[in-house]
Amino acid sequence: MISQECYELGSKSSVIREIFSFGLKRKAEVGEDKVYDFSLGNPSIPAPPSVKRAILELLEEPAESLHAYSPAPGDPKMRAIVADSLNRRFGETFTAENIFMTCGAAASLSICLKALVNPGDEVVTFAPFFTEYRCWVEAMGASLEVVPPSVPDFQVDTDAFERAISAKTKAVIVNTPNNPSGVVYSEETIKKLAAILVRKSEEYGSPIYLITDEPYREIVYDGIQVPYLTKYYDNTLVCYSYSKSLSLPGERIGYIVIPDRIADYEHVSPAIAGAARVLGYVCAPSLFQQVIGKCVDDTGDINAYRHNRDLLMGGLERLGYTCVPPQGAFYLFVKALEPDACAFCERAKKYDLLLVPSDDFGCPGYVRIAYCVSEKTIVNAMPAFEKLMTEYKEEDITSSET
Ligand code: PLP
Repeated sequence: MISQECYELGSKSSVIREIFSFGLKRKAEVGEDKVYDFSLGNPSIPAPPSVKRAILELLEEPAESLHAYSPAPGDPKMRAIVADSLNRRFGETFTAENIFMTCGAAASLSICLKALVNPGDEVVTFAPFFTEYRCWVEAMGASLEVVPPSVPDFQVDTDAFERAISAKTKAVIVNTPNNPSGVVYSEETIKKLAAILVRKSEEYGSPIYLITDEPYREIVYDGIQVPYLTKYYDNTLVCYSYSKSLSLPGERIGYIVIPDRIADYEHVSPAIAGAARVLGYVCAPSLFQQVIGKCVDDTGDINAYRHNRDLLMGGLERLGYTCVPPQGAFYLFVKALEPDACAFCERAKKYDLLLVPSDDFGCPGYVRIAYCVSEKTIVNAMPAFEKLMTEYKEEDITSSET
């Protein structure tokens, strides 16, 4: 008997993948430029030139060492470079020992959960949340407890958060800037969240770990600051990825920060190494560890995303859509024009608008629009958004006349 859980996960694709596949089919039928595909969070801007330069330089080095296995937690020199960068940027005191190189944020989160959580434990997260959290948490035999957002600002509902924590809560996952809302949790939110975690850890007599998932940290607009969570709560593990900031999602490179000051560091640090081993995420890609060593403080051209955000949000608001103002990432969270977001997305497909319903993000009634697309896609999609709005308005008139 094989694993029923894995069979089920592997035999149905995610809603996002289904929409993306539908888009490919439609593009083949009607032409690329007639389909407005806002489904995937694939960066649309190129990696910065420093990445190409670094790869070319590195290719001059002896192939047998360049492509060799690194030590399981990563090359100590590269880990030290990452630690120094975090110390410079966030006033931290990390060393190479605090950094574990991984294959992106997906691996980082799976490793942290495997290391911290036992079957029967609970993990809390905040809606709307990245859909994969559920399968990663449930794969560890734990359950995911979801805290609804505070509307309309989509910050954390701190009362609901406090109620969601129980004696079984082992960890809390926070994602800011957020996928799918684009919201950045304010310093005030983070301080309240940290105070609750301290209080609840004391009340239950065991540490509740905060796992911060931050692949969008550098993708922020209007000069907004994203609080660095280790500075607010000691028991924080940071999961980072270069997939978005350096536009390298296919290269699978990121890291976990395990600060010395987390509770039970002497056990947690080896448990992270053990979890990486169990899951097969040791020795992150060698070439890209070295690339990170040369481009650690770089990003792609974030301004291109800001331009897209302004164009899309401005256009949709003029048409009468209600948007959650995003301060970061490259997603716009928009209220569906009927309570059932799946039905709304089906209707949008009539106009070749491919949007993702928010149900699997734990926050029904909205759609996610990934604006990591070309400017042309946004401009050309506006008449389709207008037709969709008109259809709903006309329906309202018809139903109020009958
Ligand atoms: N966490 C969030 C919030 C994401 O949006 C993504 C990818 O889109 C991931 C984690 C996984 O990122 P990675 O490509 O680094 O595995």
